[in-house]
Amino acid sequence: MANYDVIIIGSGPGGYVSAIRCAQLGLKTACVEGRETLGGTCLNVGCIPSKALLHASHMLHEAEHNFAAMGLKGKSPSVDWKQMLSYKNDTIGANTSGIEFLFKKNKVDWLKGWGSIPEAGKVKVGDEVHEAKNIIIATGSDVATLPGVEIDEKTVVSSTGALELSKIPNKMVVIGAGVIGLELGSVYKRLGAEVTVIEYLDVITPGMDAEVQRTFQKLLKKQGLEFIMGAAVQGVEAKNNKATVTYKLRKDDSEATLDADVVLVATGRKPYTDGLGLADLGVEMSGRGQIKTDGHYKTSVEGIYAIGDCIDGPMLAHKAEDEGMACAEGLAGQKPHVNYDVIPGVIYTHPEVANVGKTEEQLKEDGRDYKVGKFSFMGNGRAKANFAADGFVKILADKATDRILGAHIVGPMAGDLIHEICVAMEFGAAAEDLARTCHAHPTYSEAVREAALACGDGPIHS
Ligand code: FAD
Repeated sequence: MANYDVIIIGSGPGGYVSAIRCAQLGLKTACVEGRETLGGTCLNVGCIPSKALLHASHMLHEAEHNFAAMGLKGKSPSVDWKQMLSYKNDTIGANTSGIEFLFKKNKVDWLKGWGSIPEAGKVKVGDEVHEAKNIIIATGSDVATLPGVEIDEKTVVSSTGALELSKIPNKMVVIGAGVIGLELGSVYKRLGAEVTVIEYLDVITPGMDAEVQRTFQKLLKKQGLEFIMGAAVQGVEAKNNKATVTYKLRKDDSEATLDADVVLVATGRKPYTDGLGLADLGVEMSGRGQIKTDGHYKTSVEGIYAIGDCIDGPMLAHKAEDEGMACAEGLAGQKPHVNYDVIPGVIYTHPEVANVGKTEEQLKEDGRDYKVGKFSFMGNGRAKANFAADGFVKILADKATDRILGAHIVGPMAGDLIHEICVAMEFGAAAEDLARTCHAHPTYSEAVREAALACGDGPIHS
């Protein structure tokens, strides 16, 4: 048994970042993790492995579609799936061992095993009970399943199984047109699978700006992904390494089936708090299984805090990290702040999709007067040179004050470009501030500046 200032349960981006920050601020810190490796969903079965496969499959796409035009001749590469998986696993290993190194460097103790909280101030791991002045729950989330759909992680898979299929399927059905389904669907499409996405709603990526939804879906269709929209999946039957998906079209209640070698269930994630003993402790939960917290991440029980996917808000690694840092700084007596109005969201397909702040639909609903500055990557020299001119940057600014209210990008490196706008929004900038900032040529970032110019007197290159 040991005594700590803080014990954090879970070592995902919320937990490990919080642990490192606590230790940096002089608190004696331990982090409990039941997995074999640190880093949580994100590093082991989420952000990092999916990005490795997106990168590898994008390279294949470039070789197949653009190399010859650039004068790069020769046989286009074929896919060695085993090697691609091993590249992905090496990427995971490099990242998870990096966290282990950071824990040692910052003197964070890793308590290996599954933790529970027998009472406030105590964390049990295996047979050991450790004492802590404060406990931070960062136990993340787990795959949400659908009624009538049983995941076996072979033929009917969650995102976890989809990251390590035994072979590339000929036919894949993706249930759910959200971020995870579209990212992994586009990986397998590029690797040669026929991919059909079934979505309950009439739009993909719910909650995003409608113009982005339309453009993004058009581009994915151009890449060969097929969509069945407005369809409620009734069930999936798996037999002999094949599956049949039954769905009902919402418009006329007609039922149809679709066969596949692999069905990816990508209908969302749910908070994970199993085995912690929260009910006995009296920790208040929301109806959706999230731990209820106040503005300082305090739960209803003194000395117990919660952050990341297991509390309210977008299930994103960087949101969890920011909360982890803020919670640590609060415990150390600082006055941290997370600005939930400026949390970017990114889809790492090609082209990428990124957004921050309000959508046009939200501004209309709020009755706010706004203006739109839009610029197509067709007018961006670098994008044209790199065969990456699909998409646009759209900036929404207050009509009267010119203050930036939101931004939506479909295009090359959108996930990186969005941060210039995040910083601008964090400082309360006007679109004109971006427009008057010198941007290096030739860069994709010039498209952001042109969109900002489009909020005023107009862009130059369109
Ligand atoms: P998690 O990362 O879920 O970590 C929680 C950890 O707690 C786990 O390791 C778990 O083993 C451990 N744990 C749980 N209970 C206990 C216990 N009782 N004792 C000990 N340990 C316990 N987000 C992005 O921002 N960008 C992306 O590109 C992105 N891509 C994704 C792709 C996929 C396929 C998936 C599934 C998710 C993706 N996400 C992405 C979401 C992101 O992974 C999560 O938002 C993020 O991991 C949440 O961090 P967290 O610290 O709250 O929890």
